[in-house]
Amino acid sequence: IEKKQNEIQKLELVGNLAASSAHEIRNPLTGIKGLIQLLSEKYKSEEDQLYFSIIQTEITRINEIVSQFLFLGKPTALKKQNINLQQIIHELKPLIVSEGNLNNVECRFTIPEKNIPIVCTADQMKQVILNTTKNAFEAMTGGGILTFTIFEHAGKVTISIKDSGVGIPPSQLKKLFQPFYTSKDTGTGLGLIVCKRIIQSFHGEIYITSKENIGTKVEIVLPIAAS
Ligand code: ADP
Ligand code: MG
Repeated sequence: IEKKQNEIQKLELVGNLAASSAHEIRNPLTGIKGLIQLLSEKYKSEEDQLYFSIIQTEITRINEIVSQFLFLGKPTALKKQNINLQQIIHELKPLIVSEGNLNNVECRFTIPEKNIPIVCTADQMKQVILNTTKNAFEAMTGGGILTFTIFEHAGKVTISIKDSGVGIPPSQLKKLFQPFYTSKDTGTGLGLIVCKRIIQSFHGEIYITSKENIGTKVEIVLPIAAS
């Protein structure tokens, strides 16, 4: 327990440091991005264009890492509110569906009619759902089915995000929440650790089960608040 406590503290420290430098990193990056854009209009050879597109991709990646750092920062310190989960899903659904259309993925939603209040920070809750659905889409490169389900049980609510993608080998399952663990060429390896940190700050838990070549299921369990 002490070792785990230590690790959490270390992560918190690194997170806070990273979050405070994040804005400092973003501003010069925006400048670089603009200048690269200008150069790429000037140097049109195939080779140069290839270099420019690689630079653009890498800048996008740095931006993504930095954004995740912002969420890794201090989730416990942010002001939480009593919010309807429905409202959050309602706002995200069009985003998820259009991402599905782009990826040839059919999105199936099963969401209860009645309001489910949870204590959270809406932006962070959205980030968790976006990080996990992004992973799901990235696991279904040839298309597939995303099943998004919300159900209540014994004072808790579960948000279940299931994909029909490549799945995760058993040997990798325990590495998923390690910072910077990624199996992707252009991954950041920060999405899931950010999800875990945020969900734990809402007094919830996140579970991942997976079968290779069948798919992966992410379950986020949160306490239901008094309305
Ligand atoms: P990233 O997506 O940048 O690689 P994450 O922290 O979001 O980082 O995920 C870590 C790793 O967990 C991924 O690289 C992938 O190997 C695995 N993973 C997460 N979600 C899924 C999923 N739905 N299907 C298959 N693998 C997944
Ligand atoms: Mg990810």
